[in-house]
Amino acid sequence: MNAQVPLIDPFARAISYLRVSVTDRCDFRCVYCMSEAMQFLPKKELLTLEELDRMCSTFVRLGVKKLRITGGEPLVRRDIMTFFQSMSRHLESGDLEELTLTTNGSQLERFATDLYAAGVRRINVSLDTLDEDKFARVTRWGRLPQVLRGLDAAQKAGLRIKINAVALKGFNEDELLTITQWCASRDMDLTWIEVMPMGDLGGEDRVGQYWSLRDVRDVYASNYIVSDLAERSGGPARYVRLEETSQKIGFITPLSHNFCESCNRVRLTCTGELYMCLGQEDMADLRAPMRSSDDDAVLEAAIHAAIARKPKGHDFDYSRQKPDGQVTRHMSHTGG
Ligand code: SAM
Ligand code: SF4
Repeated sequence: MNAQVPLIDPFARAISYLRVSVTDRCDFRCVYCMSEAMQFLPKKELLTLEELDRMCSTFVRLGVKKLRITGGEPLVRRDIMTFFQSMSRHLESGDLEELTLTTNGSQLERFATDLYAAGVRRINVSLDTLDEDKFARVTRWGRLPQVLRGLDAAQKAGLRIKINAVALKGFNEDELLTITQWCASRDMDLTWIEVMPMGDLGGEDRVGQYWSLRDVRDVYASNYIVSDLAERSGGPARYVRLEETSQKIGFITPLSHNFCESCNRVRLTCTGELYMCLGQEDMADLRAPMRSSDDDAVLEAAIHAAIARKPKGHDFDYSRQKPDGQVTRHMSHTGG
């Protein structure tokens, strides 16, 4: 297969966005994401930082323009800054348009300046509540002041921040407007995410339950004039503007099928498995072909073969009593 052939899937969607989970480990244990006794992969299973570089660089050569680093918590992986520094060469050459990450914010105080120096300009920080006790309850091991210091450091370093909040019924419902105003006051974007049926959480209390973003939108509509925006990112996010404040609010409703037709992304796990769809079990192992040869043509052929299997859409379905189409792996495995 020719390296110049771009990644186009069977439904004529160009693949230009790669999300890479660089570790399955995390310093938090968010109740909707992991059980407290989460078993992690043996370290030897992980791609080395050099192998992650080779994987990502191959995808960039095949036309990926946006790289999002995630996890687990990406900033707890040892020496991860060397990986960011190394990826910055693709930004400098113009082959890559954006290098970014999704983080819980716990390590930002330490790494914000280095991230900016590596060419990162925008980051997503996950934060579901502004109440210290509730934060400790939902993340189990997280501490809010540490994350707030991280946000300060990130803004000081020049990073633009988007807050991702999981909408949890009975948990952060009462904070919708407070979180919105707080984001406006700090000039941060805000996106609400619907909770997804991922992984076996050991039957533990999910803290909140599924809270439809339609209801979230209704709360906004009774407090603001809400205008729908046409803007799409090739992903599941839809945007509205609150006219009174000009704030743009995103809604990620992965349980609806409204984004699959424009899906431009695939996900690589820290062990080199490529998931062509977040909501499906099918994946392609890229680690074996990569390790089998120093010639990148072997890896490129494996990537092309995987993209040829990208499904049309996912099977999540909350319309019945129990979440149907539940996938057994955790979000921290595929990186959200
Ligand atoms: N640790 C980083 C963080 O929390 O931002 C990156 C990885 S985390 C798996 C990525 C995103 O997935 C976070 O915004 C988190 O809230 C979200 N997430 C995790 N489990 C989820 C679930 N079951 N449903 C919806 N979102 C989930
Ligand atoms: Fe860790 Fe992110 Fe999962 Fe929370 S959502 S446990 S911070 S990986």
